Amino acid sequence: MSEPIRITRAATKKSKPKDAELSFGTVFTDHMFVVDFQEEKGWYDPRIEPYGPFSLDPACAVLHYAQAVFDGLKAFRGKDGRVRLFRPQKHLERLNNSARRLCIPPVEPELALRALVELVRLEMDWVPSTVGTALYIRPTIIASEPFLGVRPARSYIYYVILSPVGAYYPEGMNPVKILVADKYVRAVEGGVGGVKTGVNYASSLYAAEEAKHQGFTQVLWLDGRERKYLDEVGTMNIMLKIGDEVITPSLGHGTILPGVTRDSALTLMREWGLRVSEREVSIDEVARAARQGALKEVWGTGTAAVISPVGELAHRGERIVINQGKIGELTQKLYDAIVGIQYGTAPDTHGWTVGVE
Ligand SMILES: *Cc1c(COP(=O)(O)O)cnc(C)c1O
Repeated sequence: MSEPIRITRAATKKSKPKDAELSFGTVFTDHMFVVDFQEEKGWYDPRIEPYGPFSLDPACAVLHYAQAVFDGLKAFRGKDGRVRLFRPQKHLERLNNSARRLCIPPVEPELALRALVELVRLEMDWVPSTVGTALYIRPTIIASEPFLGVRPARSYIYYVILSPVGAYYPEGMNPVKILVADKYVRAVEGGVGGVKTGVNYASSLYAAEEAKHQGFTQVLWLDGRERKYLDEVGTMNIMLKIGDEVITPSLGHGTILPGVTRDSALTLMREWGLRVSEREVSIDEVARAARQGALKEVWGTGTAAVISPVGELAHRGERIVINQGKIGELTQKLYDAIVGIQYGTAPDTHGWTVGVE
């Protein structure tokens, strides 16, 4: 099926911020993609229209029971001037997995990809060019049926908005201090930790605010059952190097979000011949390794920052300092490798990028 995407152009264009003035998620482009769903019709009327507010009935399901999913990916302007999306198919596949878990009808992958490419092509001038900047892409699905009963909604809106974002590390990568959460949990087995849905974010805010008041950047989440095993760091996947083993929690329990950056980092490290394990790792194992001098590096992975080095973990009054608070060699190598592919300065041997001409 290749239903055409109807385009209505904005009558006036917004002024674009300079690359140096960009932050995260504050400025949106002139257009957005929208497609509607009704039980009788399926997804219908895909269109690109001027960016603007929706009119929603106050009773609509998403506003009460949070039936919604989203994803987040980026388009980069390379040194060669070309614009590339990073692994869009993988992000859209995850969006549909998230949708299924929330009883939301999946969006046809071919249409969803075409929508991303066409929207970014129309907004090409919005893709900033300084290394580190990007055009952030936010696909979202919300339940739009006005109904207060508790069951999956019968109507939805899928939309995609774009936001030019600044360099995550304008002054270079600085390892952050992280508080290990022992009072709150992010996800439990059988829950929705493994999918990208807003409720995971809403329920994480309280712990993150407490950590910030105590001088930490974020929290390290432990598992929901024993509060023993590492889960994620803030809204990023976590990776550690202990001795010569690189470890990241496995996806098997359904509590870890299957990050595209996580997958990219694992793929690269395996190609580099490193010993990489996806397994449970307890905070006690991490603390013990640190005491023995075997804890070499800790970092988070995610689309926003790519790689975020962790310099210190605080756990029940104990301070675990990693690599003297400095960025590790592998952390830096991974960052450089992924960013190189994204900006087209390193060959894309995995077919991860999709060019927007
Ligand atoms: C989005 C997200 C990540 C990172 O996924 P990427 O695909 O690498 O951006 C990690 N953890 C959580 C909870 C997330 O929502």
